[in-house]
Amino acid sequence: MLLTVVLVPQLLSRDARLQVLRAHVSEVARLAASSVEGDLHRQLIESQAGSPPDESMLAQARAPLLRLHRNWPEAIYVYTMGVDGGMPFFVLDTAQDPAFAASRKLKPSPYGEEFRIRPEYSSNWLNELAAGRAYVNEYFQHDDYGYFLSGHAPIRDDSGRVAGFAGVDFDLDYYIAEEARFRRIEFTSIAFALLLSLLLGFAYAHYRFTQQNQMRLHYESAMQDSLTGLLNRRGALSAIEAGWSDANIHSHAALLVDIDNFKAINDTHGHATGDEVVRTLAAALRGCLRPNDITARLGGDEFLVFAPDCDRSGAEKIASQLLEVVRQTAGPVGFRVSIGISVVTAAQGDFDRLYRQADTALYRAKGAGRDGYAFFSV
Ligand code: GH3
Ligand code: MG
Repeated sequence: MLLTVVLVPQLLSRDARLQVLRAHVSEVARLAASSVEGDLHRQLIESQAGSPPDESMLAQARAPLLRLHRNWPEAIYVYTMGVDGGMPFFVLDTAQDPAFAASRKLKPSPYGEEFRIRPEYSSNWLNELAAGRAYVNEYFQHDDYGYFLSGHAPIRDDSGRVAGFAGVDFDLDYYIAEEARFRRIEFTSIAFALLLSLLLGFAYAHYRFTQQNQMRLHYESAMQDSLTGLLNRRGALSAIEAGWSDANIHSHAALLVDIDNFKAINDTHGHATGDEVVRTLAAALRGCLRPNDITARLGGDEFLVFAPDCDRSGAEKIASQLLEVVRQTAGPVGFRVSIGISVVTAAQGDFDRLYRQADTALYRAKGAGRDGYAFFSV
């Protein structure tokens, strides 16, 4: 996109520069035409039918053109032509002067040489000149003499009638040298556009990355417990909601796990040790999970295991395994847990109900002496 924005104006400005060059060529052709003595030129054209003019007459007619041409390094060939029966032919050519031709390494066109009309010349080229208007080719063309942009302008005699025309050929090298000055600007602006697009791309990627990272951090702090890395209450609720609504599932189980006498652990060993116990229990819970089970720290020393598609005996297995693991866990201090279990059929209600029943069962497990589990029963 950026490249297009940079390149299109440059292509347009290159075309504009070519048009400026064409206007310049036209001006130079007009100047060349006006320097030629019209009546003399008419005589030279008319000599074509009879005997060719002698060299001194040609040299006299050529002199003003040579003076001009010496000051135009950009004009390679400067010449005049007449038209005979629709066919243009050369009359004067500054390269007919041997010293000048040698100094500029030019190939002269002798008086009377026919000019082969090339396809680049529009069909009304000679008509335009005969009507007194200048004519410049659309673009550079190639011939035996090189690559040129040519411009022609009518020569008028003293009575104002058209008496042949003058031509100037501008060399492609001149144009290329002029263009080279602009090319540096083009390259700089293309390089700048590329750099800018890279920078913008990088800035955008960086912005997206930071944004996504922040969103992930927000999500994590909203859904995760920072001490254990388990889901927090909100995270547990949203995870359970997603797993609740499968109609093929028969029943779900919730196990509410609470550390026994945690207050005493804190009081005896300090809060930091209490935290370590919380982390140790989190690791033990993770080790007891089946693939689809969800575990969370609901707060304080209270943890939840939600086991989807789990019946009473499945829940009992999880509870027994967890109690055993905790008993054998070498934490910072020995600790035990009590577990309240609730199992409801999938159609039988919502998570609130499951939680309340598990809480009641937990109360019973505590009442039964701790370090054990109890089922909810009405
Ligand atoms: P019970 O066997 O009846 O559960 O007795 P308990 O002492 O564990 O009683 P309860 O569960 O009510 O006590 C929870 C204590 O956990 C109260 C609070 O000081 C402590 N606690 C809560 N959050 C944290 C925590 O993040 N770190 C630590 N170290 N202690 C916590
Ligand atoms: Mg407790």
